[in-house]
Amino acid sequence: MRALVVEDDPRIAADLARSLSSAGFRADICTDGEDAWFRGDTEDYDLIVLDLGLPRLDGLSVLKRWRANGRDMPVLVLTARGAWQDRVEGIEAGADDYLPKPFRMEELIARARALVRRAAGGGSARTEIGALAIDTNKMAVWVAGMAVEITALEYRLLSYLVYHRDRVVAPVELLEHLYGDDDARETNALEAVITRLRRKLGPGIIGTRRGFGYFLEAAA
Ligand code: CA
Repeated sequence: MRALVVEDDPRIAADLARSLSSAGFRADICTDGEDAWFRGDTEDYDLIVLDLGLPRLDGLSVLKRWRANGRDMPVLVLTARGAWQDRVEGIEAGADDYLPKPFRMEELIARARALVRRAAGGGSARTEIGALAIDTNKMAVWVAGMAVEITALEYRLLSYLVYHRDRVVAPVELLEHLYGDDDARETNALEAVITRLRRKLGPGIIGTRRGFGYFLEAAA
């Protein structure tokens, strides 16, 4: 899962990115509204956490522009405490949820996960697809009822395939969701993760469509 944190306070932004990444997201940070608008408009995020008070372009305008362009990713808006006008305006502008500042990181993560699940069309934290079961709150995986130990990177890859189980996911898209902008994006690295994951999960879980990408075989 790929998340964008839009927050001009560097300390809060770093905290958010760190917490999201321990929750299984790969988080990018934007500190101004113009940059945020551009990235949200041109890149695919599974979740955006958006502060409203931003330099260059305010958060509400950013959100309105995304929605006007048909960008429908889940957006969690951070509002000033007690500013009910912000919440009303945020929801009217197309926010999926909001959280007043200061917030508890645990609550933000719980809401972030709920939004991503809702966007994927499921309400429950535990998803079962064939022999595979995955719990997005616990970041735990089972095959045929047996718990499987997987790394954070492997979890990110598997949960991305689970959320997009209705289609074949291209390697370049998986790489984008696994690694940040600064990391090397190498197809070889992706193949190595897939190979390790397949060894752990056993056959019949992750399928390859040659020349197109990977898919969740259990869902086919
Ligand atoms: Ca701010």
